Parts: sequence; C-alpha cells; structure tokens
Amino acid sequence: MAHPALTPPGVHPDRVHVLRDGAPRAEGPVVYWMQRSQRTRANPALAHARALAAELGRPLAVVGAMAPEGARATARSATFELQGWRDVRDGLADLGVGFAFAIADPVDVALAAAADAAVLVVDRGYLRADVAQRERVAADAACPVVQVEGDVVVPVDVASSKAEYMARTLRPKLHRVFEAYLDPVADAPAPQPWSGGAPAIGRFVSVANTLDDVPSLVAHLDVDASVAPVEALYPGGERAGAARLESFVAGALHGYADDRNQPHRARVSYLGMYLRCGQVSPVEAVRAARAEAPAAGEANVASFVEELLVRRELAVNHVVRNPDYDRYEGLPAWARRTLAAHADDPRPARYDDATLEAAESDDPYWNAAMRQSVATGYQHNHMRMYWGKKVLEWSDTPEEAYARLLRWNDRFHLDGVDPNSYAGVGWVFGLHDRPWTERPVFGNVRSMTQGGLKRKTDPEAYVRAVAAEVARLHDAP
Ligand SMILES: Cc1cc2nc3c(=O)[nH]c(=O)nc-3n(C[C@H](O)[C@H](O)[C@H](O)COP(=O)(O)OP(=O)(O)OC[C@H]3O[C@@H](n4cnc5c(N)ncnc54)[C@H](O)[C@@H]3O)c2cc1C
Repeated sequence: MAHPALTPPGVHPDRVHVLRDGAPRAEGPVVYWMQRSQRTRANPALAHARALAAELGRPLAVVGAMAPEGARATARSATFELQGWRDVRDGLADLGVGFAFAIADPVDVALAAAADAAVLVVDRGYLRADVAQRERVAADAACPVVQVEGDVVVPVDVASSKAEYMARTLRPKLHRVFEAYLDPVADAPAPQPWSGGAPAIGRFVSVANTLDDVPSLVAHLDVDASVAPVEALYPGGERAGAARLESFVAGALHGYADDRNQPHRARVSYLGMYLRCGQVSPVEAVRAARAEAPAAGEANVASFVEELLVRRELAVNHVVRNPDYDRYEGLPAWARRTLAAHADDPRPARYDDATLEAAESDDPYWNAAMRQSVATGYQHNHMRMYWGKKVLEWSDTPEEAYARLLRWNDRFHLDGVDPNSYAGVGWVFGLHDRPWTERPVFGNVRSMTQGGLKRKTDPEAYVRAVAAEVARLHDAP
C-alpha cells in the first residue's frame, strides 16, 4: 500500500503507479518531469501533479529536457519536438505553473529537480530506453516518484498480461473495458501560482525562454541536419495537433472507412506524429471522433477507433510484453522458420542502401513511397506495407531487410521510434498476422505485389500526389 498522500483522487487509479514510495518531503514544490506526454491539455500526469500540489499546499513546476543528441537525432524530429516544448511552456504559463527546459540528459535533469522537490511525477513510456530512464530516476531520486499513464486509452496492464497474438485476440479485451477510460481529465484544483523565476534544476540551465527560436536551438544540437525539418507540412506542438484533430474530425473522418486505404487521397488523420510525442491525447482523439458520429457515420468512427485503439494499443502490448520487440528474434517463430527456409530463393532484384535511399529502384510506386518518407517525414499506411514487403524481397536476407526498414522508418518519419514502429515493421515479417499460401522469398509470410497495389489503389495518382507534396515543401518560405 503506497503512502496515501501520493494518490489523491482525480485521475483514474489504474493510470497511477508509485515507483518510489514514501511521505512527500516537507519542503519544496511538486515537480512533474514531463517526458512522454508533451502537452498541457488532457494530460493525466499534469492533472495528478496539480492535485498533489493542491493537496500539499505547494506550488507546481514542470521540468522537461532533451539530450543534445536527442529527439531521435535528426533536425526534422528535433524541430517537431522543440515546437512542442514551446507550446508546453506557453500553456503552463497560462496555468500559473513553473517551467524549466534543459538541453541535457533527461535523467540528470529529473534527479536535479527531485533534489528540491516534495514529490516527482512522471508520465509513462514503453520503449526500453523510456523504462530504463524511469527506473534510474526512481532508484536515485531524493523524493517519492509517481508514474501516470496518459498516452494510451486502456492502461497497458489492464489491457492484457501477455503478448497478444494478433488484433483479433486483443480487440475483445479492449472493447470490454475501454469506455471506463474515456472520461475527460478532470480539472484539478489550481495549485499556488508559481513565482520566482525558473524552477531549480541544479547545475543545468533552463533554455525555456529561447524556445521561440527553434532553428537556433536545433543548430546547437548534435543531430543529423540532412534530414531536414518539414514544418511547412507538419508543424509540431499541441496547438498544431489540436488543429489537426479538429480538421480531421470535421473532414476526412467522414469518409475514413473507405478512403484510409487510398494513398493518393491523403484522407487520413496525420495524427501519428502528434501521438508519438504526446502532443495529442489518444483519449481526446477517440472522444472527438465519437462526438462527430451523428454527422460522420458510425462506420467511419468505428474504423478510426479500430486503428487508434486496437492497432495502436496492440503495438504497445508488443513492446511491453515481448522483451525482443525491436529485434529480428522477437518475430513469431513460424515466420522466422519459413523466411529461413526461403533465404536462398532467388530475389527479383537486389538493391544496395544507396540506391534505395535515393528512391532509384525499378518500381516507380515504391520510389514515390520512399520519396514521401525522405522528403516529407510521413508515409501513408498502405504504402508503408508495400514499401516494407518490397524491401524484404530486395534484401540479401530477411534480417538485413528488418534492420534497413527500422533504420529508415525511424530516421525519416516524424512518428518513428514508437511502439507502432516495431509493430509496423514486424508486421512486414509476419508479426500479428497469420501464415498465408507459400511463395518464393516470403514463404508463408504474406506478400504484396504491384498487381495487387494497382487493383486496390491508384498508384499513378499517388506518384503525382507525392510529387506535388514535395514541390509544395520546396516552395514553402
Ligand atoms: C512498415 C510499417 C512501419 C510503420 N511505422 C510506424 C511508425 O513508426 N509510427 C507509427 O505511428 N505508425 C507506424 N506504422 C503504422 C501506420 O502506418 C501509421 O500509424 C499511420 O500510417 C500513421 O498515419 P496517420 O496518423 O495518418 O494514420 P491514421 O490512418 O489516421 O490512423 C490514426 C492513428 O491510428 C494508429 N494506427 C493507424 N494504423 C496503425 C497500424 N497499422 N498500427 C498501429 N497503429 C496504427 C496511429 O496512431 C494513427 O495515427 C507503420 C506501419 C508499417 C506497415
């Protein structure tokens, strides 16, 4: 039983886990070390921190950090995330909450903040590095540490205690309980307003007031500048995320069930990148879509909820329940067996990295997909499936294909380095799928062909749409 002062009422108790127990310290503010849920609206960790601060009669501070080689190490993703931190700063100022942001190792910054805090609150991340960071902070913090899970609809330990075989096995479990987790985050009582400059973060310097000049900050990071920012297409931050959700719900949602599989129409949500950084809450996205059901139609809303709830949380289940989630060895045994049995099959073509990164294969549709990733930071879901299957066909070994896909996915896409990245790339190799009729190279793993792409979609229109999108980006001021 955790110390009762750490769990004031408000946020659903299934979202709250005490990582380091104890009585709140007699001095100091409540500090929320924001990492995964980079938003001020609909944020259960922020709500919990507010409730704690109000109950203890202390002010509330939020502390964020990005490692110098952080934000997934490209200028593109760093720009997107720093724009998010700028929005967080502005949102917290409106709420009377203190804010410090440092370019430094996030664990060191969290521990420095905890040295003066009554309680440290953190949001939950699922990737190996996220879990390790929280374990280090919980082990070494000078105060109690409470983790709050706000970036899934159904808390992952409630959803399932085992690695799920496929969407069909997780879906009923989620559908049975998810309504209980859709309540909006309740407004916690306002804490004492923050006064007196930036919250203490030890020897680290807060650069919160320089977040208006994101390009200068990015220039000082140790990131790959050749993967350029794409803010003209996809501005980062919770304001842009909220606008995106609003325009999707009023527009593309109304034809989502049919149009989501048509890559040239671009009638999907483009929310993945905002969800990836916690700039949009998945609960808010489900709520907004359901509120639109009378106009958008139940089938369209159900199709969106299937992707956002079932598919996305199946990916989180994969990462949490499979210790090899990001390794070839973590793929299902049947899939690795059949791919190994076909490892020596002749390939229709073999391309090296440079040819594929330059989008110079002999397949114009694959090239357009790669161009969309490299130039715009996004690739449509239907094309990601085709893109992956072709790389499997064109690589010397399935292991090499797996490594290439993860590398490109995470380097170019704004939604990369996410549980969905490992589930999506894994799906290419049979994860969360069943055996199909045996084919060369693929064995019993599902294949995709150019003929199928032409039958089901309009790939010529997709090639034109990508060219127009890339031109728009180049012409942007
Ligand atoms: C090879 C491959 C790699 C992928 N890599 C990523 C990745 O790095 N990051 C990522 O977020 N998604 C990834 N996906 C899943 C999917 O392609 C993207 O989530 C989707 O294209 C994002 O675009 P959107 O937000 O417009 O999606 P929408 O169609 O509008 O869907 C809404 C939301 O539902 C979720 N969703 C949709 N499709 C899937 C899916 N198949 N699996 C899990 N969740 C889904 C996403 O959170 C998405 O934002 C990958 C899929 C494949 C086949």
